[in-house]
Amino acid sequence: MRQLIRDLLTHVGEDPDREGLVKTPERIEKSLQFLTSGYRADVDELLNGALFTVDYSEMVIVKDIDFYSLCEHHLLPFFGKCHVAYIPRTRVIGLSKVPRIVDVFSRRLQVQERLTNEIAETIREKIDPLGVGVIMEGTHLCMAMRGVAKQNSVTVTSAMLGTFRSDARTRAEFLQLVQRRS
Ligand SMILES: [Zn+2]
Repeated sequence: MRQLIRDLLTHVGEDPDREGLVKTPERIEKSLQFLTSGYRADVDELLNGALFTVDYSEMVIVKDIDFYSLCEHHLLPFFGKCHVAYIPRTRVIGLSKVPRIVDVFSRRLQVQERLTNEIAETIREKIDPLGVGVIMEGTHLCMAMRGVAKQNSVTVTSAMLGTFRSDARTRAEFLQLVQRRS
């Protein structure tokens, strides 16, 4: 990977041997390994011992989870907030594990729509809740930094499964809880 990054530096018109860039290939390699570590993560291992049976059937919501990902079209960051909610059937996920699930799928090359769906589908698969909803609000540097169309727009995506899809009141409750600023 380091040789490729050296070549890349040359291609953009740089001198990879100048002082400030000598260690850049090594740094980018490490950085990219971390930013794509989601490919090598095991969700089952992550959730091992963190799934609990409960007698609780109200909405569980974890909101304002920070996420950082890389867009697969430009390898530029997109980042923002993720809000996750579900209504348990019999099982819940340890609350600290929800942001970890978001990390596993964020640390890959992504598009925001797929990222949103993968988080929702994983929760459905692992605890079979009555419903699950995921909303993501992301700023995309590939839009903000490039070309003439500089903008501060935020891209919002959502995935609604089960009762979050079929029941408008459940969906409305989720949206209301997300919009309430703490
Ligand atoms: Zn992009």
